[in-house]
Amino acid sequence: MKDTINNIKDWNLGIDCKTPVIIAGPCSIESEEQVLETARRIYLSNKDSVKIFRAGVWKPRTNPGCFEGLGLTAIPYLKKIKDEFGMKIAVEIPDALRLKELFTIYKDVVDIIWVGARTTGDVFAVQSIIDMMCEMHLENIPVLIKNPISPDIKLWEGAIERFTSNNINNIGLIFRGFKNFNETKYRNTPIWKLPLSIKKKYPNVCIFGDPSHIGGNRNYIKELSQISLDCGFEGLMIECHCNPEEAWTDASQQITPENLNTLLSELVFKDNHNDVELSVLRDEIDIIDREIIKLLADRMDVSRKIADFKEENCLKTYQPKRAKEVLETRKEFGKKMKLNENFIEDVYKRIMDESILMQDFVKLDLILNKNMTW
Ligand code: PEP
Ligand code: MN
Repeated sequence: MKDTINNIKDWNLGIDCKTPVIIAGPCSIESEEQVLETARRIYLSNKDSVKIFRAGVWKPRTNPGCFEGLGLTAIPYLKKIKDEFGMKIAVEIPDALRLKELFTIYKDVVDIIWVGARTTGDVFAVQSIIDMMCEMHLENIPVLIKNPISPDIKLWEGAIERFTSNNINNIGLIFRGFKNFNETKYRNTPIWKLPLSIKKKYPNVCIFGDPSHIGGNRNYIKELSQISLDCGFEGLMIECHCNPEEAWTDASQQITPENLNTLLSELVFKDNHNDVELSVLRDEIDIIDREIIKLLADRMDVSRKIADFKEENCLKTYQPKRAKEVLETRKEFGKKMKLNENFIEDVYKRIMDESILMQDFVKLDLILNKNMTW
């Protein structure tokens, strides 16, 4: 297994450009005009920084009936972009059949392929893409592997191993965050320590941050790009559209080519990535804090139900015996968790004060029969 890992080509995607490497282009190709206009403007405003053009040709969608891409019809448009602007072309390959059709009909258009997040999680689909690459002698095509939708690092590593053990060694990764089941700031939660642990294990593999799919919102592209670079990723893949608001897919996260230029000029590229650890730890704290706040809100909801119960049963809001018991048991548990007793006492006194205050308001509301908002 180790040997195959060592075969990964050292940061070689068959392109001559300096790091960070920027891949930009629309989420999907919607028409010849849209993709050519996007490429022309990317070229005009970013010709020194963007050497690779990305475009979705087949779009795996969650719901049927949505726009699923133009398919092979779009490849000649990409050929025009390649010839006119000299950019390398990267597309997502959703399965072995499409790979076969693409490389049978158009041999020299697509330079780099990527495996989408949904596909990485499907080991048979990954294996059949690999088998087809071998059958068609496409082993030297660079492949970028997106992380799977779930934060299952083994699945992502497994995909790397699958490619390398079949002698496909020109590979890189794309980090696009993980599906979250609770509401969070970003569309896909970036657990930065996971790509960083992969980087430690496979130092030769290059990683692209995908701030567009992590953020799901163009307002977050800059901060997520900066974190990606601070993590020491070698590149960024950013969705760019000539008219982002009207895009047929991922409209909220695409930016114009001109805004890409501004964004890239504002990013700071450092050689030294010592502060990564701090970003990673802060990222963990952010996730934990959101959980704490959600739990406090859940606790308050239960407290509201208790207020109704107390009112119906003519019970007093503040019950000293229960308050004492809560404080004592929480302090005891806190001690077991190696937390300072006074700290837990302070926190719980504050929580209980707030809860009592809220219960008094609920009571007042019930008495006045008004809907007061708390
Ligand atoms: C994409 O890059 O357009 C895409 C569909 O991304 P993901 O596979 O990360 O959802
Ligand atoms: Mn997209």
